[in-house]
Amino acid sequence: MKLKVLMDNHTYIDQYYLGEPALSFYLENGRDRILFDTGYSDAFMSNARKMNIELKTVNKVVLSHGHNDHTGGLPHLLALNRWLTVITHPDTFQYRQDDAGLAISSPLSKMQLEERCDLRLSKEVQQVSENLFYLGEIPQYLDFEPRYSIGKIQVRGVLNDDFIYDDSALVYRGNKGLFVITGCSHAGICNIIEHARKVLREEKIAGVIGGFHLFEDDERLHKTIEYLKNCDIDQLYPCHCVSLKAKIEMGKQLDIGEVGVGMELDIE
Ligand SMILES: [Zn+2]
Ligand SMILES: [Zn+2]
Repeated sequence: MKLKVLMDNHTYIDQYYLGEPALSFYLENGRDRILFDTGYSDAFMSNARKMNIELKTVNKVVLSHGHNDHTGGLPHLLALNRWLTVITHPDTFQYRQDDAGLAISSPLSKMQLEERCDLRLSKEVQQVSENLFYLGEIPQYLDFEPRYSIGKIQVRGVLNDDFIYDDSALVYRGNKGLFVITGCSHAGICNIIEHARKVLREEKIAGVIGGFHLFEDDERLHKTIEYLKNCDIDQLYPCHCVSLKAKIEMGKQLDIGEVGVGMELDIE
């Protein structure tokens, strides 16, 4: 499987792609052309053109969760593609806002998606493509990664604290082990890895790429580093929502790679 970074917070020097605080990965797996998240704006489309990626050929979209830095590009993608299969959690299209009251939900509603897509909402594991699985709702396995709320989510007309239960990830079953592909890891990067191991009944983690949602130099970060060290991961690529401070701490004990727009990975 091929993975290409269409959007990330980071860009490389001398490569003139657009960056934004958002995430979008393009995957080629057999005949499937899959988009994992769509960035915040239409900037991922401009990057795709420069990378000679035909977004019109995308047949499947997986959304890691509903926040608009992962779903903001959806209307632009739908203007281009006649029919798509969209796989995500049932909470992804709920209205949500940040602590200041600013809307941070998907620009398209569930109804708008249903009219134009084959929308598959599931809390359970779903096969997306050959050897590629959407993990569904992530349980909490590790004490140091409890759920915490960010802003509010509207449920049956009432605004509740948002624990982002929709947050999920992809896992690819390769020759060298499992390769985990995350959006923001609000569910906890280690919880996600544990869930991938459990559902695919395989221990070896060959790689991880995506947002880990780590910012502070705190106990959670250090327990995460301990956990990742024990996993003995060959390819570790924290990006999107990982601060420089967190990357520096990780880099002291782990071999981490630099992610930027335009990066390509061959996942075997
Ligand atoms: Zn998020
Ligand atoms: Zn994000």
